[in-house]
Amino acid sequence: MVDLRGVHKSYGALEVLRGVDLTVRTGEVAVVLGPSGSGKSTLLRTINHLEKVNRGWISIDGELIGYRRHRDKLYELKEREILRQRTHIGFVFQDFNLFPHLTVLENLIEAPVAALRRPRKEAVATAGRLLERVGLSDKAGAYPRQLSGGQQQRVAIARALALEPKVLLFDEPTSALDPELVGEVLDVIKDLARSGTTMIVVTHEIGFAREVADTVVFMDGGVVVEQGPPSAVLDNPRHERTRAFLSKVL
Ligand code: ADP
Ligand code: MG
Repeated sequence: MVDLRGVHKSYGALEVLRGVDLTVRTGEVAVVLGPSGSGKSTLLRTINHLEKVNRGWISIDGELIGYRRHRDKLYELKEREILRQRTHIGFVFQDFNLFPHLTVLENLIEAPVAALRRPRKEAVATAGRLLERVGLSDKAGAYPRQLSGGQQQRVAIARALALEPKVLLFDEPTSALDPELVGEVLDVIKDLARSGTTMIVVTHEIGFAREVADTVVFMDGGVVVEQGPPSAVLDNPRHERTRAFLSKVL
C-alpha cells in the first residue's frame, strides 16, 4: 500500500532523510520509533507531499505521490492533483489541529463536503457513525475548546477517517496529552488496527508498538536502521543504536 524507495530530503545543508526505504502492506500497522530529530515527522510529511523529496520516490496504492511518470521521466503534478492525492492520506497531528471555530460535527464534514463534494446529508450521517466509533456521539455540537485533549484527538482521528483514507499517518498522537488521557486515544487506534486500517504511527509508546504493530521501524539519523516484527526489533534488536535507544525509553 505504501512504498518508499531511496527517499532523500534536505533542508538547506541539513540532510534529514538519507535514503529511506519502507514498505507497508495493506492492513498493516507500522510503528516508527526513533530519537528526536531522527526525521520521523519529516518522513510522514513527505508521504502526503507536505514536503517534497529531493531524491527517491513514494507511492501509495501503486500511484506515485506528487509526480506522474511519462516515458521514463517524472513530471510534477499540479496542485489540484496533489490535493486529490492528499485526500486519500489521513494525517493525525500531535496537537490535534482541529478547526477551533467549527463544532465537532462541522470539523468532520468540512473536507468531505468541500473536497470530495459529498452531499451534506450523507457527510453528516457518516460523521455520526464515526463519532460513535470514537465514543463521542454526545459531542457533535461542542467546540474543540470545550473538549479534553483526549477527546479532541479522538475527533481528529474521526475527521481523518471521514475521508476514507487508504492510509492513516499518526505523528506522536498522544505526546501532547496528560498521561491519564493517553489510553483512550490508543484504544481508538487499536480498534482501527483490528479493523484492518493501514497505518503508520510515530510514537514513543513501546507497549503500544508491542501490542499493535505488525512491523516496527527504528529510525536514526535519517535512515531506517532496522525494521521487523515487534518481537525482533524490541526484544532482540540487531543494532547497537536500536539497543541504546530502547534502553532509554523502556
Ligand atoms: P523527528 O520527528 O524525528 O523528531 P523531524 O523530522 O521533525 O524529526 O526533524 C528532523 C531534523 O530536521 C531536525 O534536525 C529538525 O530540526 C529539522 N527540520 C525539520 N523540519 C525542518 C524545516 N522545515 N526546516 C529546517 N529544518 C527542519
Ligand atoms: Mg517529530
